[in-house]
Amino acid sequence: MPEIYTFPLGPLQTNCCLVVNDGQALVVDPGGPPEPVLRRAETLRVSIRTILNTHLHFDHLYGNQALHEATGAPILVPEKDVPLLASGLGSGNYMGMPKVDVFAYETLHAGRQSFIGLECSVLATPGHSPGSLSFHFPELGAVFVGDVLFAGSIGRTDFFGGDLEILLDAVRSQLFTLPPQTVVYPGHGPTTTIAEEQRDNPFFE
Ligand SMILES: [Zn+2]
Repeated sequence: MPEIYTFPLGPLQTNCCLVVNDGQALVVDPGGPPEPVLRRAETLRVSIRTILNTHLHFDHLYGNQALHEATGAPILVPEKDVPLLASGLGSGNYMGMPKVDVFAYETLHAGRQSFIGLECSVLATPGHSPGSLSFHFPELGAVFVGDVLFAGSIGRTDFFGGDLEILLDAVRSQLFTLPPQTVVYPGHGPTTTIAEEQRDNPFFE
């Protein structure tokens, strides 16, 4: 049975998720020192094969390089967010925050993928950042959305490349069309479901 574990990491307590399937694992958004994630993977005897970033804001990236060094797993990032790495928003050293360790990456765009033996539809959900991606795993009944959608709220759209109308449209067209019972794993705060957000989220009345 696939399983999901969440670890709030780093200075902004960004949710880092460990997805485990059949002896393998992937990590979404290691936003701080990844030791708790590595310890859990060791306890579960799974090997981390892939590191996914929902978007390239510094608080989702702090653990990328350390996790890559510990596991050899490639880091896959949204292609349209790559320009952010040249600014403080992507590299840290921003709003009094530490610098992000430089990491090598491969780019990813929307479409069907397979990771650790699980199908994944990579969804383009821009608006919080220009290239934000969400990762929907139908077999898990889960979607990892980064900072696009939160329980009862939405992500900020006042950073470079953000746009409120684009974000609302992306949530409606890409996320609210998923099965209603799908569990939403946001980049900060508690999990929710598509059905709950459709019903209660004040930004979508
Ligand atoms: Zn962000």
